Amino acid sequence: MAAAFVLAACLAGAGHADTIVLKNGRRIAVSNVTREAGKVNGDTPAGRLSLPESIVARVEKDDAGAGPVTTTNLAAADLPIAPPPAGAASDSDPAVRAVVHDGAIDQEALARFDSQASSGSAEAVARAVVAESAAGQFAFGRGDIEQALGHAERALSFAPDQVTLLLNLAYLHLRRSEYSVASELLDRARRLAPESPDVAKLSGWADYGLNRLPQAVEEWKRAQQLRPDPEVASALARAEMDDQVETNFEEGVSAHFVLRYDGSAAPDLARAVLDELENDFESMAYMFDYTPAEPIAVILYTNRDFADITRAPAWVGAINDGRIRVPVQGVLTVTPQLASDLRHELAHSFISQKTHGNCAIWLHEGMAQWAEGKRSSREDAALLIDLYDHHDDPSLAALEKSWMGMPADIARVAYSWSLATVEAIVDAGAPMDLDLLLDALATGSSTEAAALSVLHANYTDLNRSTADYLRRTYLH
Ligand SMILES: [Zn+2]
Repeated sequence: MAAAFVLAACLAGAGHADTIVLKNGRRIAVSNVTREAGKVNGDTPAGRLSLPESIVARVEKDDAGAGPVTTTNLAAADLPIAPPPAGAASDSDPAVRAVVHDGAIDQEALARFDSQASSGSAEAVARAVVAESAAGQFAFGRGDIEQALGHAERALSFAPDQVTLLLNLAYLHLRRSEYSVASELLDRARRLAPESPDVAKLSGWADYGLNRLPQAVEEWKRAQQLRPDPEVASALARAEMDDQVETNFEEGVSAHFVLRYDGSAAPDLARAVLDELENDFESMAYMFDYTPAEPIAVILYTNRDFADITRAPAWVGAINDGRIRVPVQGVLTVTPQLASDLRHELAHSFISQKTHGNCAIWLHEGMAQWAEGKRSSREDAALLIDLYDHHDDPSLAALEKSWMGMPADIARVAYSWSLATVEAIVDAGAPMDLDLLLDALATGSSTEAAALSVLHANYTDLNRSTADYLRRTYLH
């Protein structure tokens, strides 16, 4: 759970060497497929072709030589930054042993330490700090960031001027994408330890999360001067690149978003994108029963900048690496394609933040597609059922981690299967089950364990019910 390279890329319209299949069966080889305003466009040797969506059955991607269809997607909440150094207490400390034993936290022992501390002796206070810190570390090790946060807060309440406790609590807030709170804690830590490289390192993260790129660059440079650190080096490189590209960008702000866009993009488009996102925000806050703590950054790029920054191939659509990055070259209004890309990426933001980055990619992508409004097609269903019947259905366990390097055709099946699985979950129970799954993930549960506790189904059961659902719904 430390270095969390989350998610995969989200495919959009652009293409490599593709085939437009018309409803009458005709096939047309094209490249650079785009969908805009009800038209499917593509380049042919005879020039640019534009067809009404209504006559197009589907677009088939020919992936020969196109490489994997996924890219990594690194949520800002999950910059691969390790926790700051913990306090000095060792596992053999009697207070640590009293509180964490037999694979659990001894709540009674912990309560005893806490109440002794309120009597006031310096020794009792020190013991309570050690005990709460040990409980917090144990919870963190289990992936339960909320519980860890509770212990970190109590430890700090006993010793408000201990820098390691301030750093620890700030770190947990950063992991929860709560950058403003973290920033205040780090300011307090800075007053106590102005030369701490860890304060500078975490402050840079808070600034980056709050879209204060120049400040993030400054903090991380300072952190590097105080103590060179590979984690900081890569975060700094990324922030510098963003900062450079975005220097001349205009900025638009709405209640829940900070939007940056290239001066050459139309301001009207920026406004329309913000309106669209605000609408989506409300419905997703309802859908996911969650509201992100900070404004979400959205960057609109010309395609050239997008490719430079993300190093994504031309056929990749928008990307969410904690900031929603959307290529918009040549787009003047919010097209249906752009609207669904925005919804898809926004869903990733909600899921990442709600689960603190602890969500299997198949569920991430399944829910993002579902939230975007996508549903399985009859063709998808037929293919997936065929795979299931031949015992070639994807293993959800294999789809938990990065989809990077997956061949294109496999990735396409991964997307379809993930969507179908989420559809089947919704179909079988209440859409609320998805929220409950995310709640379980937020406490550090594995995705399969969450499925077992919420849906009473392991991965094998889920695949079976997905196949049943597809058969029932699409093939009858
Ligand atoms: Zn996606």
